Amino acid sequence: METRLKVAVQKSGRLLDDSIQLLKECGIHIDNGKQQLRAPARNFPLDVLYLRNSDIPQYVQDGVADIGIVGENTIVEKGKKLVKVLPLGFSKCRLSIAVPKNTNYPGASFLDGKRIATSYPNSLRQFLKEKQLNAEIHEIAGSVEIAPNIGLADAICDLVSTGSTLFKNGLEEKDIILQSQACIARTEDLSADKMLLLKQLVFRIESVLKARKNKYILMNAPNDGIDEIVNILPGMKSPTVMPLAEAGWSSIHTVIEEKRFWEIIDELKDAGAEGILVAPIEKMIV
Ligand code: ATP
Ligand code: MG
Repeated sequence: METRLKVAVQKSGRLLDDSIQLLKECGIHIDNGKQQLRAPARNFPLDVLYLRNSDIPQYVQDGVADIGIVGENTIVEKGKKLVKVLPLGFSKCRLSIAVPKNTNYPGASFLDGKRIATSYPNSLRQFLKEKQLNAEIHEIAGSVEIAPNIGLADAICDLVSTGSTLFKNGLEEKDIILQSQACIARTEDLSADKMLLLKQLVFRIESVLKARKNKYILMNAPNDGIDEIVNILPGMKSPTVMPLAEAGWSSIHTVIEEKRFWEIIDELKDAGAEGILVAPIEKMIV
């Protein structure tokens, strides 16, 4: 029988769309019936298992799924032994302590003897232990941010990305317990043939992630500006320089990280670059 990689993906929630989109950009199309628990990929030996994010670490540890696309914080919270294979760059967030605005918070010692509401009791307990603090942990499943307002807690420990939920509820972020993003994690014992499939998948994902970070840029410049422009450009390799039909002018092409592009745009213009185009890259193999 053909070996197939079983990939746990969140069934619904914050991770789902980005997970499916990433697989799609890797050329792996999933027949996405929301009601299905299991969906085969059409063009890669892989089956998706749709599960609760909070259940994924357990399923992957037990080998029911070979790998999972899961929030790093969930692996920590569930205390499962998984091998982290690759960070994926989405669902970035942090687990933080927040307290009502204008609370005098001299440091984590504030939490000693206080009541803290959270959906992440294990991560919080670990943090308190490291700081040698005692606090009453109130575990609640959702809407933790309202706990201080209704008098249930003095502080909360919750996931934050932009901070707008905290702001709307009159809370202020004070301490960061951990940083998280979505990642690929695998079960500890993976057979050699599955490991090979995982390697192929990771190769594809890496080329998609690299492509997302980079842009293909092209510009025109008078020939006497080429040396300076080539010096400014931090590309993959040496840029391509091609003559334009108009004598004395060339076109310069290269690939750079988008954030670097914004840093050097003024220098490029000062060196004589004109008609600068920036294009997305679909896959990048280096
Ligand atoms: P389940 O599927 O079991 O309900 P969940 O409640 O953890 O899981 P989500 O709320 O969709 O599901 O969160 C999934 C993951 O997304 C979290 O584990 C975390 O890594 C990340 N995440 C959570 N909150 C945020 C946020 N505010 N911003 C960005 N990422 C977040
Ligand atoms: Mg949930």
